[in-house]
Amino acid sequence: MMLPAGFGGMVLPDRILYILGRLEDAGFEAYVVGGCVRDALAGRAVHDYDICTAARPDEVRSALAGCDIRDTGLKHGTVTLVLDHEPFEITTFRVDGTYSDGRRPDSVTFTDSVTRDLARRDFTVNAMAYHPARGLVDPFGGADDLRAGIIRCVGEPAERFGEDALRILRGMRFASRFGFRVEEKTALAMHALRQSLSNVAAERVRAELEGTLIGGGAADVLREYTDVLTVVIPEIAPCVGFDQLNPVHPYDVWEHTLHAVDAIDPEPVLRWTMLLHDLGKPPCFSPEGAGLRGHFLGHGLVSARMADVICERLRFPRALTGEIHALIERHDTAVGKEDADVRRLLRDIGVTQARRLVKVYIADIAAQSPDWAEPRLSRMRSLGRRIDEIAARGDCFELGTLAVDGGDLIAIGVPPGPAVGQTLRALLERVIDEPALNDRDTLLALAGEKP
Ligand code: ATP
Ligand code: MG
Repeated sequence: MMLPAGFGGMVLPDRILYILGRLEDAGFEAYVVGGCVRDALAGRAVHDYDICTAARPDEVRSALAGCDIRDTGLKHGTVTLVLDHEPFEITTFRVDGTYSDGRRPDSVTFTDSVTRDLARRDFTVNAMAYHPARGLVDPFGGADDLRAGIIRCVGEPAERFGEDALRILRGMRFASRFGFRVEEKTALAMHALRQSLSNVAAERVRAELEGTLIGGGAADVLREYTDVLTVVIPEIAPCVGFDQLNPVHPYDVWEHTLHAVDAIDPEPVLRWTMLLHDLGKPPCFSPEGAGLRGHFLGHGLVSARMADVICERLRFPRALTGEIHALIERHDTAVGKEDADVRRLLRDIGVTQARRLVKVYIADIAAQSPDWAEPRLSRMRSLGRRIDEIAARGDCFELGTLAVDGGDLIAIGVPPGPAVGQTLRALLERVIDEPALNDRDTLLALAGEKP
């Protein structure tokens, strides 16, 4: 088979060659398939290899007798082979049955044809298989689309999204991650079938949206598919086109949000925070002076509460929800000028979150008018440096590093019970204001002064 220009074949790890060899020796065609072929062709690092084969699951077992094989998704023809603690998925060539719920096939049928297996896959760039001797199997023009940077459905887009609405979000994720454009009919069908996303499991929606958010093309994709996004996060709809009536804000709330998403590092917690940080603006809006200027008093907290509801609905891990909430709640409140103010921030949210908060402030400002940005940006950068200095100096800002503990206080006569905690917190306040006080004798003397 002709390989695309510039593609010298995939260099497969020994373990993969071993697995393919054992299956082929037993008389079954076997290929690497999907994401690994796409990424290798594009010259990107491959993070995991999926294998597909004509062997049925029981035949995979006997072809690989003696290996550690686990039945992970037997119903869909997938077994997992564990080689030196590394898992490899081996899936039998299959044709998906009908989809009555738009979520998962009612049944799957095994087939001997790799082409038919590739035909059930979502996008042409994901529907390629490779074998070291037989080369690339690319019946749908995936290599051409990859070269041209196009996400295109295998087959009739409306049918494919009708079978499985999650593919709409997968299309957005791949477009964002690779900076690809979506082919026209595919894009039309994504818009047209967006309502069917309400049937998709929340965890999967979250995972695909997160993939879109951390991609290099996040803002462009979210702008183009705002109508899709608002099916799963309807709270965004009021932000679209919402004029902020403020010269600092040349953009409406949604356009500001998209710029802010793009302006921050592509880490999930930061990107989610920027996506949700201003949801409370429309409900908090109050006009001043005959509507000539807008105010959004308290929108940080309102947005944080709205984010909680969304995170719960999309089944975010609890810790992530808490981090997003804390950042959003504080994004519209400045940190004071004193080092003690910075230490209080560190007491409240910790060093990692405080560093993130600085990034949130900076991204927020970067998504506003450049005319007023510079002095504010430089204040934020200096806040970042002060956090680093305080952390490096080891200033005390939490009970764990206070020079006395509850036992010390009880030993000098503080009655066990709530008084211990109260006294510790009062001492911490003193130390936050004046780090030199964080010395055992000094603190015990201070505690002793208390009635
Ligand atoms: P990633 O690098 O994100 O893992 P991937 O292409 O490997 O990308 P996976 O979700 O791991 O994506 O899926 C592996 C392959 O299975 C895909 O390349 C595609 O061929 C197929 N696939 C996955 N999900 C679907 C789906 N919902 N509909 C059709 N085919 C799918
Ligand atoms: Mg994968």
